[in-house]
Amino acid sequence: MRQQETILIADDSKGIRDFLIEYILKPKGFQVIVATNGRDGLNLARKHHPQLMIVDNQMPYMTGLELLQTLHQEGLRIPAILMTAHGSEQIAIDAFRLGIRDYVIKPFLVEEMNAAIDRALRETRLEKERSQLIQELTNSNNELKQRLQELNTVYATGKSVTTSLDLEEVLRRVVEAAIYVSGAEEGSLMLLDKEKENELYVRASKNLDSASSSMRLRIKDSLAGQVINTRQPIVIDNNIIEQKITTAYLVKSVVYVPIITQDKAIGVLSVANRRREQPFNNRDTRVLSTLADYAAIAINNAEIFTNSEQERGKLSTILGQTNNPVIVIDDRELLILANMAAQSVFNLPQTNLTGTSIRTLIQNPDALNFMLQPVTPDLERTTELSLADNLVFQANLSLIENVGRSIVLHNITQLKELDKLKSEFVAIVSHDLRSPLTAILGYVELLERVGPLNEDQTEFVNRVKQSVDNITNLISDLLDIGRLEAGIALDIEECDLPNLLNTILDEFAARIEAKQLQLKQIVSPKRLLISGDHKRLHQAFTNLISNAVKYTPEKGAIGLQVTEMNGQAIVEIADTGVGIASEDIPHIFDKFYRAKNVLSGFEGTGLGLSIVKSVIERHNGRIWVNSQMGKGTVFSIILPLLINTGENKSTPTKNTKMWTKKR
Ligand code: ATP
Ligand code: MG
Repeated sequence: MRQQETILIADDSKGIRDFLIEYILKPKGFQVIVATNGRDGLNLARKHHPQLMIVDNQMPYMTGLELLQTLHQEGLRIPAILMTAHGSEQIAIDAFRLGIRDYVIKPFLVEEMNAAIDRALRETRLEKERSQLIQELTNSNNELKQRLQELNTVYATGKSVTTSLDLEEVLRRVVEAAIYVSGAEEGSLMLLDKEKENELYVRASKNLDSASSSMRLRIKDSLAGQVINTRQPIVIDNNIIEQKITTAYLVKSVVYVPIITQDKAIGVLSVANRRREQPFNNRDTRVLSTLADYAAIAINNAEIFTNSEQERGKLSTILGQTNNPVIVIDDRELLILANMAAQSVFNLPQTNLTGTSIRTLIQNPDALNFMLQPVTPDLERTTELSLADNLVFQANLSLIENVGRSIVLHNITQLKELDKLKSEFVAIVSHDLRSPLTAILGYVELLERVGPLNEDQTEFVNRVKQSVDNITNLISDLLDIGRLEAGIALDIEECDLPNLLNTILDEFAARIEAKQLQLKQIVSPKRLLISGDHKRLHQAFTNLISNAVKYTPEKGAIGLQVTEMNGQAIVEIADTGVGIASEDIPHIFDKFYRAKNVLSGFEGTGLGLSIVKSVIERHNGRIWVNSQMGKGTVFSIILPLLINTGENKSTPTKNTKMWTKKR
C-alpha cells in the first residue's frame, strides 16, 4: 500500500478549507496540513515537504504566487495547485513557470478539484517512482562495480597462482585479496603442521599483531580446527559467540573457510574484524572459498615442484656420475641431456648444450647414424661403436615416450680385448692340438697292423679312436667358431635348400632308423635358392638335425619342413624330444652352454648351436626356438631367398606341433 500522502492547504477562507478537507481530501485518505495565510503556508511547506500544496492566490502576508516563488528560489520543488479568481489567468501562467501542476478557478466543482489533485499527484508519484528506480539502479550499479572489482582481485590472485612458483608470494596475495574483497580488518592463512598433525600454524597473514601471527592453534578446541574437521566454512558475526568458541583472540566478526586438496582439509583461510562491527555474509564466504581453492592449488603445485626438483636433482647427480655415457635428444634431434661421460667421449664443449642439434654435436658418423636411425617403441636397438682412443662401446638406443630417444653406451673395450685374446688362444691351441692327435690316431691304427689284438685290446683301441674323433670334432668346431667370429669370408655360391636338407636327412637315415624315429617332412618340391656357403650351411643344419635326433628318445618323431614365404625360405626342424626349459632358452646359443636336463645321458660340448647361430647370421638369417619340456622342440630359421618364386607359401610354426606328411 502506498504511504499516506500529505497535502498542504493554504487558504485564508475557512469555507474553502473546510470544503476541501471534508469533501475532497479526507474521503480520499490524505493527511492534511492547514495554513490560513501565505507566510504560514511557506513555513509549513518548508517543514513538512508535502506531496502536494493547494494554494489560494489571494492571502494575507504573502500571495500564493509569492509563496511558490520563494519555494522555487529555495530549490524546494513541491507540486502545487493554484486557486485563482475569475479573470486572473495571467497569474496562472506565471505560476506554471514556477512549476505548479494545475490551477482551478473559484468557485470550482468537487470533480474539478479531484481531477486536478489526481493529475498532480500522478505526476508526483511517477516522478517519485522514477527517482526510486534511479536510486535502485545506482545502487545495483555500485554493487556490480564492487563485484567486478572483487572478481578482478580474485582473477588476479588466480593468475598469480598459475604463473608464480613462489609459494610465499602467492599465499600472501591470497590473504590480501581475502581482506580486500571482504573489507575485513585482518586476515590469515593457517596450515596443518606436517609434523604435529593436530596443530595449525600461521603460514601467511596481514594486519595480525605479532602475537597472533606466531600463534599455534590446536585442532581439538579451536574454531579453525572445527573447520578442518568438518571441511565446512564458519561465519560468525556477533560478539555473543565469543565466549562459546575459542578463536584464540576476541573478534567481532570472522569467516573461516577450509583449504582443501585431494579431499583433505590442509588449512584454513580466515578474515576477521576485531574493532569494527561489520558482519560478513555468504558472498564473502563464497569468494573466500575460491581464494582458498587457489591457495590449495598453489600449495599443491609447490609440493609437486619441490618433489620433482628433488627427483631431478637426484637423477642428474646419478646421471652425471655414472661412467656410462648417456645422451637424450628430443623428436627434433635437439639435445636434452648429455652427461659428463658422454661429453668426454664425444668431445663436447663443457657449456650448456641443451637445444643444440645433435648433428652439429656428434662428429662420429657411425654414432650419429645409429642415434638417428628409425626406432619403434617395442624395439631397442644395439650396436658396437668404435670411438676415439680405441674405445669400443656397446650402444643402446631406445624410444622414450613423450620425450624423444636415449642413447646409453657401455664401455666394452676390455671385453673385446679379452674376447680377441681368447679367440687367438683357441685358434692356436686347437691348431697345435691337431698334430699330436693325428700322431695318436696314426699309431693306434698301426697297432692292428703289427700283430693281432685280442678282444679287450680291440675294444680299447676303438675307444681311443672314438675319443680322438671326439677331440678332433671339438677342435674343428672351435676352429670353425673362431673363423666365423673372426669374420673370415664365406665361400658364396648358389645353394638349393631343399636339396641340401634332403642330403643331410640321407646322412642321418641310419641313425634315425637305429632309434626307430618316425620322420615327418614337408620339403618344397621346388628349388629354393639362397646365396651362401654350402659347407657352412651343411654344417649348421647337420647340427640342428643331429640335436633333434640326439635329444629325442627311441620311437619318437622328428620333422623337417622347408617352405617359402615373402621371398624368404623358412626351415623348421622339430622333434618330440626332451625339450628345453624356458630358463635355458636364452643361453642355448652360447658357447659351451648345455641345459641341465641333457648333462647326464647325452654326450656333447655345447658348441653346435653357437656355430648354427653364427652361420645363419652370417647369411643374414634369423633363428629362434620354441620348446616345451618333455614334449619337444622346434627350431625355426629364416633365410633370404635368392629368387622369389612366389609359391608354396606358409607361415612359420609358433608351437611345437609336428607335421603329418610321411617321407
Ligand atoms: P654339441 O656341441 O655336441 O652339439 P650340444 O648338443 O649339447 O653339444 P648344442 O647343440 O649347442 O650343444 O646345444 C646346446 C644345448 O641346447 C644342448 O645341450 C641342449 O641342452 C639344448 N638343445 C639343443 N637342441 C635341442 C633339442 N632338439 N632338444 C632338446 N634340447 C636341445
Ligand atoms: Mg648339438
